[in-house]
Amino acid sequence: MADERQYDWASLGIDVTKPSIARTYDVVLRGKDNFEVDRAFVDEIAKIVPEIYDVAAYNRQVLGRGVRYLAGEAGLRQFLDLGSGLPTVQNTHQVAQSIAPESSVVYVDNDPIVLAHGRALLAENEHTTVVTADVREPEEILALDEVRRLIDFGRPVAVMLVGILHHLHDDEKPQRVVDTLMDAVPSGSHLFITSFCASSQEAVDAEVQYQGLLGTGRFRTPEEIERWFTGLDLLEPGVVPLPLWRPDGPVPNELTVGHRLMYGGIARKP
Ligand code: SAM
Repeated sequence: MADERQYDWASLGIDVTKPSIARTYDVVLRGKDNFEVDRAFVDEIAKIVPEIYDVAAYNRQVLGRGVRYLAGEAGLRQFLDLGSGLPTVQNTHQVAQSIAPESSVVYVDNDPIVLAHGRALLAENEHTTVVTADVREPEEILALDEVRRLIDFGRPVAVMLVGILHHLHDDEKPQRVVDTLMDAVPSGSHLFITSFCASSQEAVDAEVQYQGLLGTGRFRTPEEIERWFTGLDLLEPGVVPLPLWRPDGPVPNELTVGHRLMYGGIARKP
């Protein structure tokens, strides 16, 4: 576990007195780059959704399946991974480059801890980089030299908003973020989204905790999540609970609250 007293975290822009999205996600992925305040937040969520650790695993698993599809069948070689989080297992560049070593990956996150821990692990080769930027300002991300160095916007791009849009409130205009990014990429590009979904009473209760303790969190309905893909060709099986998106193995007949807590899908720009 990270130690609050070990470094001058504040000098890195890291506030150890409040939970952060990236670090609480690290807790549920059973990582070690988190502080007491982050673990306390997850304890509160786990009282409402005890399966929260499984939910994080479903999200990482679908990220792997999605990137495998994008680099494999869809043949994409450029990945813009927004809200990429702390390095963990099966990072986007590891999955994509295991299929096509020349794949370029730009990781974007606004939490300074991602850059602090991610630079060595995520930017591990010449085709991969990490930048600190805010997805609520997509024009700025698209204009960054570091992004343009690795991504050629004349060729198809995989735009990944995996586990991030539920951190944007409605007045932060997630649809505008999606549209700005997808307008900047050519036909054949893909959009990959996963999001918390207001799919049960427990989900609605967890949303209240997220808003109260973390200050972000708007769990959308499946219809709202599907609307983000408007104008694109949604691939089979559509926007579904994550364990149902092109599973590698058998799926349970009856889905639990945890199975249904996050929905997602992938679409192609025609
Ligand atoms: N995409 C990874 C995955 O699905 O495994 C990580 C998801 S994690 C739940 C969400 C990430 O989004 C966090 O690392 C957080 O710092 C980042 N994030 C939240 N709001 C953001 C914003 N406005 N701009 C950029 N990153 C943001």
